[in-house]
Order: sequence, then structure tokens, then C-alpha cells
Amino acid sequence: MGGVDLEDHKNKRELFGIIGHPVKYSLSPAMHNAAFKALGINAEYKLMDISPDDPEELANFCYETDLNHIGGFSVTMPYKNQIMEYCDHYDPLAKMVSSVNTVNVEDSQLIGYNTDAMGAAAALQEKTEIKDKKVLLLGAGGAAKAIAYALREFNAEVFIYNRTLEKAEALAEELKLETIDLDAIGGADFDIIVNATSVGMKPNIEETILRSEQIPQHAVVMDIITSPLKTQLLKEAEEAGAEIVTGERMLLHQAAGQFEIWFKQDAPIQVMEGALYAELEKRVD
Ligand code: NAP
Repeated sequence: MGGVDLEDHKNKRELFGIIGHPVKYSLSPAMHNAAFKALGINAEYKLMDISPDDPEELANFCYETDLNHIGGFSVTMPYKNQIMEYCDHYDPLAKMVSSVNTVNVEDSQLIGYNTDAMGAAAALQEKTEIKDKKVLLLGAGGAAKAIAYALREFNAEVFIYNRTLEKAEALAEELKLETIDLDAIGGADFDIIVNATSVGMKPNIEETILRSEQIPQHAVVMDIITSPLKTQLLKEAEEAGAEIVTGERMLLHQAAGQFEIWFKQDAPIQVMEGALYAELEKRVD
């Protein structure tokens, strides 16, 4: 089957993994394998790279989950929307945000979930309340949509800025939120700013949508990019005196949400956190 190496299914150990392309830099195996080990779960979490060049590869992977003893899998770019075609069911949140980042295999059926939304909210809540806060959300792609939904659930007053205005308007209309022009951001006194675009991601690490003058000192600024962790936006936020939240916090909480879907028990979040930071330390940013 294409590029996905599923050799371990032969010993009947339950397999989990992450599908996407590329997946080789994923931090998810470190977190999930540490959780399995800590709780004595006889399972392994693997990288499952699926090439977008072969349209059959994703379909085959999904049809053969039982054969390959796959209990569930994480989904990353570029398949978070496409995987929905192969899901037998998905939960209302995944349907609402048109994005599945977690699949559970239940009675040979693929059930899609989205843990990005709660993962982002949990990461922000480590530093600030969300309820009734004035929030600027940068982006209108898959992650932004999940985050917009979570923020709305907390009754935040959300303003969306996106390079492609029509996408910001469509998302705002769907979730009954507002849009904002780039020029108006500096004067809007936001409590929370979330970057859910890929601006500032490696290799374009000097790029940022906002400069320090546009960021209030009292704000909490979260960037969900994980490579690098300290993006240019977060450097600007620090210069403005704001608090920052780096992208691995959301990654940790969305992974904990996945574990809970697969195993119907609390995730050993401290173990997962330790494994995440140990893995990050091995990497040179
Ligand atoms: P996506 O659906 O492709 O959306 C990309 C967003 O970035 C769109 O709003 C797009 O604007 C904007 N954008 C891209 N290049 C831009 C540029 N040069 N200037 C201005 N805007 C630009 O991607 P996604 O799945 O939402 O992911 C977005 C980021 O979140 C990625 O870096 C991803 O790695 C990260 N992420 C992190 C976590 C985590 O757990 N930490 C989870 C999910 C995603 P247009 O609409 O104008 O194209």
C-alpha cells in the first residue's frame, strides 16, 4: 500500500498514527507513544505518509484500516477535509467546521472528530479567560474555522481578518461573527489575538501580519504555528509587552483530546507534555 509502512500489524499490536503529507516532522508520535507506554497500552503510533500524487492511496488506507489493525488515526494537512469523504459518520463539531483531525475506528466504521477547536481553547485558557473577551482571529482556513467555532462557544466577541476577504466574510457570516480590515486592527484594543494562518512558518520566519504597534500591551497573543515556536508575530507581541502562547500548547491539548476519543479515558497529559518538550529539545529551530 503506497508509502505507508504498516509492518507492525503482523504482531496484532493495535496501530495508531498520523496521516498527511509530509508527516516526517510530526511531534504526535512522541506524545502518543509516551502515553501508551505510561498506561501500558499495547499499541504503537506511527507516521503514515500518504502521497497526494496518488489519488488511490488515501482511499486504500481508509478501506484497509481493519486489515491493518488500525484503531484510529490523526489527520493533518492536506487531508483534514478530504478524509470526510471516507468517514461513515462524524461528530457535529467536525461537520460544522468541515475538518476532521481525528478518526476513530469503531466496529469497522470510520468516525471523524475535530479536537483542534478544544485544543486551541485549552491552550488559551492556560493564560486567559475567553468568555466575553474581544478576540482577533487571523485566518479563515481549516484551523481558523475550528478556532472561531471554539471562541464563539465561549461567547467571545470575535473579529476575523484574512488575506482573502471573501473567505473571512463567509466564515463570519456562517458563525455570526465580524470581520475587520488590517488598517483598523491597531485601534481596536483586542484582549486576545490568535494567528491561525501559516504566515511566519518556516522558511518564511520573518513574516508577520501584525507589528508590535498594533498589539495592545494587555493582550494575550497565541500563534498556532509550531515551526518555529517563537514566530515573528510572537516576537512583536513580546516587544509590545503582551503575553504569548506558542503553538505546541494547542498541539498538546488537541493530542490529549485524540487520546480520550480513542481510549475513552483521561489522557496522561503530563506524560505527553514531557515527551513533547523532550522531542522539541532534540530539534534545532
Ligand atoms: P489552511 O486551511 O491552508 O489555511 C491557511 C490560512 O493561512 C488561510 O487563512 C490563508 O489565507 C492564510 N495564508 C497563507 N499564506 C498566507 C500569506 N502569505 N499571507 C496571508 N495569509 C496567508 O491551513 P490550516 O490547516 O488552517 O493551518 C494553518 C496553520 O495552522 C498552519 O501553520 C498549521 O501548521 C497550523 N496548525 C497548528 C495546529 C496546532 O495544533 N498547533 C493545528 C492545526 C493547524 P487565504 O485564505 O487568503 O489563502
